[in-house]
Amino acid sequence: MDPVFQRIESKRDELVALTRDMVRIPTVNPPGEGYRDLAELIARRLAPRGFEAVFIRGAGAPGDSDRFPRWNVVCRREGGGPGPCVHFNGHLDVVEPGHGWTVEPFGAEVRDGRIYGRGSCDMKGGLAAAVIAVEALIEDRDALPGALEISATADEESGGYGGVAHLAGQGYFSAPRVDHVIIPEPLNVDRVCLGHRGVWWAEIETRGRIAHGSMPFLGDCAVRHMAAFLERLETELYPKLGTRRSAMPVVPEAARCSTLNINSLHGGLDDGFDGLPAALVPDSCRVVLDRRFLLEETLEQVKGEVVAVLEGLRQSRPDFRYDIRDIIAVDPVMTDRQAPVVRAVADQVERVLGRAAELVVSPGTYDQKHIARIGRLDDCIAYGPGILDLAHQPDEYVVIDDMVEAAKVMAAAAHALLVGHA
Ligand SMILES: [Zn+2]
Repeated sequence: MDPVFQRIESKRDELVALTRDMVRIPTVNPPGEGYRDLAELIARRLAPRGFEAVFIRGAGAPGDSDRFPRWNVVCRREGGGPGPCVHFNGHLDVVEPGHGWTVEPFGAEVRDGRIYGRGSCDMKGGLAAAVIAVEALIEDRDALPGALEISATADEESGGYGGVAHLAGQGYFSAPRVDHVIIPEPLNVDRVCLGHRGVWWAEIETRGRIAHGSMPFLGDCAVRHMAAFLERLETELYPKLGTRRSAMPVVPEAARCSTLNINSLHGGLDDGFDGLPAALVPDSCRVVLDRRFLLEETLEQVKGEVVAVLEGLRQSRPDFRYDIRDIIAVDPVMTDRQAPVVRAVADQVERVLGRAAELVVSPGTYDQKHIARIGRLDDCIAYGPGILDLAHQPDEYVVIDDMVEAAKVMAAAAHALLVGHA
């Protein structure tokens, strides 16, 4: 592998330039802009190396419109003989910059060995490293078996429905087309991410009855019902969740248990209005729950314990009425520690960095869920150069040395998987 590693070293400036070009296309989601431009940049880059590009629009997916089409690209290069396919998948989109930046969010400034900008860490730096990795491998070995693929996909930040889920539905992430998938999400250069916790988002609405605010006894206040629900979460559910530890190696360590975030709360009739409130008893109050769960729990249990709290209130509070609606439900996924892609990448982390790879699980979900559930492909991990804690932060950056090292790991792991030995 040494000649390949040397090639990657010599491509350092190219890697920086490619990452900067990618960051300078602001693919902000929502609304999901610039996808086609970035997808074409990647296809153009890979074409001279023998990759054929297919552009697929996630037509009809949430957010897809003629103004903001959900474009994806899959680039494939057939090798010189039969063998498996190793696929690198990165998402095109970035979250909005938000406040607190001291550099231009889409300026791709290089300073102190880092590239700054929204998406540099999550995950354009990772995608660029994968491109350089396969280029170096192809240039060094003219007789690679199997096939290499790089895809760049839409909407990971908003659930991936117009991206990986759409492609998985068309067979792009299934055998026999693809065998091993590496997603260069920012989980740190020395970690192999096996999967992620599950997520259940639900909206709960408590119901009341409108009356004049001066005579609340004539109505029924939906906000008070909601307050009673939130109080039960504090006294009954939160203490339980905190004690439920997982065998999943979630990082950071504090996320190695069940968690519940109260995402939003809306009550009354004056949402978004700055004037004086109307003198009314509110008949509706809504809360959005963001529950992250573990392999040791099932979605049914997770929902069941919230419903049990609500049903308990129906017994104890007169006129307590509620509706509950699923927004998103995703099961946890965790690839086996002995799976080929895990072993290949972990071995190369140790070889390149000189220390053992940490096998981890992500606290939040990413596109692996669609590859596992829709594509039915289990040999999938996330591995990339970005620093996990910097994702979605102001002054996000990626360390150039980490990109170079990650590219070496990716090239060597892909080679090991293609030729069938480590
Ligand atoms: Zn990401």
